[in-house]
Amino acid sequence: AFEVLVIGGGPAGSSAAIYAARKGIRTGIAAERFGGQVADTMGIENLISVPYTEGPKLVAAMEQHVKEYDVDIMNLQRAEKLIPASETGGYHEIRLENGASLKARSLVLSTGARWRHIGVPGEEEYRNKGVAYCPHCDGPLFKGKRVAVIGGGNSGVEAAIDLAGIVGHVTLLEFADELKADDVLQKKLRSLKNVEILTSAQTTEITGEGGKVNGLTYKDRNSGEQHHVALEGVFVQIGLVPNTEWLQGDIDLSRHGEIIVDERGETSIPGVFAAGDATTVPYKQIVISMGDGSKAALSAFDFLIRHEVP
Ligand code: FAD
Repeated sequence: AFEVLVIGGGPAGSSAAIYAARKGIRTGIAAERFGGQVADTMGIENLISVPYTEGPKLVAAMEQHVKEYDVDIMNLQRAEKLIPASETGGYHEIRLENGASLKARSLVLSTGARWRHIGVPGEEEYRNKGVAYCPHCDGPLFKGKRVAVIGGGNSGVEAAIDLAGIVGHVTLLEFADELKADDVLQKKLRSLKNVEILTSAQTTEITGEGGKVNGLTYKDRNSGEQHHVALEGVFVQIGLVPNTEWLQGDIDLSRHGEIIVDERGETSIPGVFAAGDATTVPYKQIVISMGDGSKAALSAFDFLIRHEVP
């Protein structure tokens, strides 16, 4: 059994494991795939003090750093169910997909999130070759170029406003006949000269040439006509889905499925903490997840020293 068991091996989980282990308490980390979203990332330019790195390189560095400490790393292990301790300070149980179960007096849940894909031809083929999901991360790569943002909700409209200040031109496409974003964001968007808004526009394909995006095809849902827009980048902004389906019913989640945490990373279950993209923490970024993971581990340590085994 562990004192702290971390579920998820992305930036949040790695950071939590290191902080817990440095307190000299028995620490484990179970992850479906160590590295998380970082393993799928190309260039990273906003990890402070590291001007440039690449996803796989950062994953290797995180893993090496975790291995500096006495942490039980259980990779390729998917958690399926959380059974909370019956008394505060007691052992929580995590059931794994392989049938095994792990016990720990405190948990840090850091199972991250995934960007919802639109599932049109070209999306997978040109991922990281013009197809992007994170404007804070990849916006500057398209400086002066033409991009599309797919999705007219708050995240799509925020992305379009953000990108309009960096890129040459933004085309925003919304499937429905009107944007869903807050009025104040829509007003801001409409005031920008280098933005075109297309509603009732169903993206049907992302096109490319020479291994790079060169445009996007959409169907005008009113006329049924197909149109092609020439551009260099496509930002898909139709939702970030937290990997928390396995926690439904056992812990309080927001209406978006995020684990609800307070400023110390505490969840609705005593002794269970959460960090990173899986939670209600605003802005989903590597540096934020790392800070969040360390905070959750310190909160877990604080919990352990205040609660005896019942
Ligand atoms: P994740 O990285 O999502 O890690 C989650 C971990 O939990 C993984 O190990 C996963 O396998 C595991 N897991 C999930 N479900 C289970 C389960 N049931 N049981 C056990 N383990 C489970 N951010 C930046 O700051 N800069 C960038 O340049 C940048 N570029 C990005 C590019 C792309 C393509 C993507 C997708 C994201 C990018 N981000 C970037 C965002 C950044 O990757 C995330 O904010 C960060 O990885 C979140 O860390 P996390 O530890 O919370 O979750």
